[in-house]
Amino acid sequence: MYCKDLSAYRYAEHLKRRGLRNVGWLSGRKPYAQGRVSDAAKDALWAHLLLPVARMRGFHECDLCAPSPKGPLSASHNGATLTLGWAEIRVFANSGRVYAAPTLVWHYVEAHSYAPPDEFVAALLDGVAPGSPAFIERVCEYDSGFVHPAALTKRPGR
Ligand SMILES: [Zn+2]
Repeated sequence: MYCKDLSAYRYAEHLKRRGLRNVGWLSGRKPYAQGRVSDAAKDALWAHLLLPVARMRGFHECDLCAPSPKGPLSASHNGATLTLGWAEIRVFANSGRVYAAPTLVWHYVEAHSYAPPDEFVAALLDGVAPGSPAFIERVCEYDSGFVHPAALTKRPGR
């Protein structure tokens, strides 16, 4: 689903929150900002991807790729690998602004030179640190179904 950068979030009704802004909901049919994203910002983005919200049963493909890849995309960074396209992230700026991005945003940056808005990059670098107690508290406000990945891996019998 295409959403203009910094427009009001509307993808999932139960995840709408006042002031929540879209970032990185790209479409192959719409132009998007391109440029270089710093390594520090990529590291911060990856740290957010490790704490996904809004998990779905299915997955989204990239429609910027031609031909469209078969099956879910995966990405590797600093020795870890993640599957993309089945969840979202929340990024909390110190200003109080909150951004919602699909996990595919990583692929858009890496493979399609997508340049997210400056204020989003600033929030990645200087906002609420992913994994911190403040982050976990905030992210639960934005997705009551949030489950910390560490809790998932610790669950017996899975
Ligand atoms: Zn692609």
